[in-house]
Amino acid sequence: MARTPDHESRTSGSVARAEMAPRTKHRSSFGAVASAVILSISLVGCGIGGVMLGEATSAEVTKHARWSYAGKDGPDRWAELDPHWSACSNGRTQSPIDIAPAKLLKAEWLEELRFAYKDTKKLEVLNNGHTIQATPERGNWLNYDKVWYELKQWHFHSPSEHTLVGMNTDMEVHFVHAADANRLAVIGVMLKIGPDNPILDQFWDSMPAEEGKKGEWSGGFSILDALPDNRTFYTYKGSLTTPPCSETVTWIVMKEPVTISKSQVEKFKGLFKGNTNRPVQPLYGRVISESVPGGMDGGHGSGAADAHGAEPAAGAKPAAVAADSYGAAPAGAAAPAPSAPAAAAAPKY
Ligand SMILES: [Zn+2]
Repeated sequence: MARTPDHESRTSGSVARAEMAPRTKHRSSFGAVASAVILSISLVGCGIGGVMLGEATSAEVTKHARWSYAGKDGPDRWAELDPHWSACSNGRTQSPIDIAPAKLLKAEWLEELRFAYKDTKKLEVLNNGHTIQATPERGNWLNYDKVWYELKQWHFHSPSEHTLVGMNTDMEVHFVHAADANRLAVIGVMLKIGPDNPILDQFWDSMPAEEGKKGEWSGGFSILDALPDNRTFYTYKGSLTTPPCSETVTWIVMKEPVTISKSQVEKFKGLFKGNTNRPVQPLYGRVISESVPGGMDGGHGSGAADAHGAEPAAGAKPAAVAADSYGAAPAGAAAPAPSAPAAAAAPKY
C-alpha cells in the first residue's frame, strides 16, 4: 500500500470506508484533528466499534448501526446492519478463529515480541456497552516483525473469542496496538478460572456498570505482568472481531493462559447481558504460525530489560513511528523516546 506522509488521511471520512478500501488512493481534506479522531476510533480494535464515540462525538460514528452479540443484530447479521460492515460476511481473513494443531505451522524463524512498556499509573476504564475498555497513558510500545506498534487499549471478551481445538476459555483479553490505522497488532491472552488475577484486581472495581460511563483508575503496575510468563504465541492475519470487521490485524495469541478468579469473571459477566464473543470464523486457507521456544530468545518472564520501558534491544526506537504515523496525533500525545532508530527498524511509510 502507498506509504505517504499523509497516509492517515486515508482513514478520514469514516473508519468503515477506510477499512473497506484500505489500498485505494483516497485522500480527504479532513484536517489533522479529524484524522486523529478517526484514527482513534478505528483503534477500537476488535472490540469496540463505537466506543470512542463519546469522545469523538462524531457523526461518522453515530450513523453506524447498533450491533450486539445475539439476536437480530447479532454476529451473523452484522454485515446487513451497515454497508460499511460487509467484511463481516464477505471477508476471507476474519477473526476470531479456532486454533488446532493440524492447522499450525511451527515457525522457528518468527521474531520475538519486544516490549517497551512503561509502568501504568493511570487508566481510563470505559463501559462501551460491549466490553470494558482500559486505556493507558501513551508511550507503551510493542515491536513485532520490525514494526513498532503503540498500545492503544485493552478490553475483554467472555467467553474467549479464539478457541483452542474447539474449546473456549472463560475470558480473553485483547491488547490492541497500532502502527497506523491500517496496521494493528492485537495480543490475545486467554483467561482461565483459577487463582485471583492480581493485575485485574487493581482496576476491576473501577469498571463502570453503566454503558457509556467512564471510570478512572490510578495506581501502578506493569502491563507485562498481565501477560503469561511464557511468551510463545500463535500468529495469523485476521480482523477486528467487531464491526466493521476490518482485515487489518496481525493477531498474536499467547499460547499460555493466565488465571482469573471465578468471582472476577462473574463480576465482568454481570455487566453485560449474555456472551461477548464473536463465533470463530473460517480460515480460508490461512496459515497459523506457532512460535516455538527454541526460536525465541527466551523473552519469557518479565525481565527487567523489557518490563519497565527500557530501550528495546535491537536499537529500534519508536521515535520514527511516532513521527511518521502519528503526525496528526491528538494533542497531548506523548512522544516516544527521541533517538534514532536502527536503519533496519526504521519504518517506511
Ligand atoms: Zn477484542
